[in-house]
Amino acid sequence: MRAPLIAGNWKMYKIINEAVQLANGIKRELLDFMKAEVVICPPFTNLSAVYEVIMETNIKLGAQDLFWEKEGAFTGAISAIMLKDCGCEYGIIGHSERRKYFGESDEAVNKKVKSAQEVGLTPIMCVGETQQERQADKTIEVVTRQLTAGLEGLESEDTANLVIAYEPVWAIGTGITASPSQAEEVHKFIRSWIEDKFSNPAAANIRILYGGSVKPENIRELMQQPDIDGALVGGASLKSSSFVNIVKNAVIE
Ligand code: PEP
Repeated sequence: MRAPLIAGNWKMYKIINEAVQLANGIKRELLDFMKAEVVICPPFTNLSAVYEVIMETNIKLGAQDLFWEKEGAFTGAISAIMLKDCGCEYGIIGHSERRKYFGESDEAVNKKVKSAQEVGLTPIMCVGETQQERQADKTIEVVTRQLTAGLEGLESEDTANLVIAYEPVWAIGTGITASPSQAEEVHKFIRSWIEDKFSNPAAANIRILYGGSVKPENIRELMQQPDIDGALVGGASLKSSSFVNIVKNAVIE
């Protein structure tokens, strides 16, 4: 049984005061909520302050990126061990905005995934096609390439400490959500790919999140799909009311 996981990606929003306020709002509503795993991913500058707010709760902290080296002369970079030190348990890796604006390659994603796992930080590895790629019928080809390169060198047991997020680029921040069946088709493919590459238990246990304009109004239908285990939420995670409602609506009983 895969526990639902909802992760909020705050992107480059919120200064410390605002981040603490948002974290407090989420904490107030979800303090005793045990039916889903909740992760919030603020910008690096807010991690410690947000950790202070959520530290003795079920809400977990994640980062939005990391660099694969442990330490060294890498100006501006933050390592997985530094994120653990701030209280992080998760790290988003290979988000399409990092791929697009910061030239992140599949090989870089792979090094980041391995470096996160080495210190016990769970990678949320993002994959997904652009609109052009979907129109050219290349969705499965693109996702296969991203999975193959991003997870190169991992063993079946490594998948216990891994989350995949399918985020069609055309649905991120656009207000356009993939239909539940469009999303399910790719999620199902990802799960079968994990089974072929790793093992049946790996495929049965790994959580695959959907990301792309998730809102309180559309999460339920998405979660009703057999291979959708949760969501990576951008815009709607920036207000406590919408994020909390996504979390609550994600639980199907
Ligand atoms: C994201 O940032 O991963 C995302 C899915 O954004 P949004 O929910 O705003 O589309």
